[in-house]
Amino acid sequence: MAEERYFVGLDVGGTTMKAAVVNDHGHPQSAPAVMDTRPERGQEAGLETMCETIRRAVAAAKLTANDITAIGVATPGLMDIKAGLILDPPNLKPWKNVPVRDHIKGVFKKPTAYQNDANAAAYGEFWVGAAQEAKSMVLFTLGTGVGGGIIINDVIIEGEHSHGGELGHLRIDTPDRGRICGCGARGCLEAYASATNVVRRAREEMACWRGASKLREYFTANDDVLTARLVFELAIGGDELAWKVVDDTAYYLALGATALIATVDPDMVVFGGGMVAAGERFRSLIDGHVKRLGLPFPTKSVKITIASLGSDAGFIGAAGCARLLVQQKATD
Ligand SMILES: [Zn+2]
Repeated sequence: MAEERYFVGLDVGGTTMKAAVVNDHGHPQSAPAVMDTRPERGQEAGLETMCETIRRAVAAAKLTANDITAIGVATPGLMDIKAGLILDPPNLKPWKNVPVRDHIKGVFKKPTAYQNDANAAAYGEFWVGAAQEAKSMVLFTLGTGVGGGIIINDVIIEGEHSHGGELGHLRIDTPDRGRICGCGARGCLEAYASATNVVRRAREEMACWRGASKLREYFTANDDVLTARLVFELAIGGDELAWKVVDDTAYYLALGATALIATVDPDMVVFGGGMVAAGERFRSLIDGHVKRLGLPFPTKSVKITIASLGSDAGFIGAAGCARLLVQQKATD
């Protein structure tokens, strides 16, 4: 029997970074090691924190660096995947042109894969999560922004310029009247369906809503702590105004999903991130809109599902990318 192989997956975010050792079957060998990113300390400190998070993950799995076959690192864009560089992502300021892959490869002397964080999360769900039965899948991650990833037959669609699968910037409304997005354009999906924009739309709806609403009562009492999660909770609890906001969110996401169904014709479209805590009811709303709006033939068979790995998808997927890297090398 072949010896068990171990991979480290590191998921670097603007606030924290997480790493764990994952085996060949995608099982984490411990709870993830978590450290604060604190990008303001500069990129040298950032690279050292990445290495320390990896070391802690290896120790937490009761292994040594010798037991590790390869390492995978995922970071938010902007990035140059082929060159292994973090360029200058807005949530990692003031980092610029950080040679992540070569640094980690140099420190640990292991093959090191580098990937976009949403692509890594998509690969995690594809490998051992909600889409493990699928041959092709599209993931939308709903958080502060809207991220995405596309996997077709074990290949991550990273694109020629490292920004394939930027599904938050699919245009679902016209550039002259659409809502304004963080990227500067108008009409992007993210400008409608990110957590921040769900709250923004909820505020707008309240202003013209006739009739009683728990959402409005809550908002009047706690103005600036309204969250997308609360809007979803109140919707599930039966509040009509909150339900409208959630249903509109499902509709906008379905517009994005149908564009991808027409492009990729995948087995599965998966939704992940904080808002999907609303679970089956939210899934079936999106599913209903997709079935109504999508290109009939592929839409009939596509499965609309909720992600199953939660916030572990990023490091599990990053470890999966490390595994892919050594497999590709072995078959070259
Ligand atoms: Zn945009």
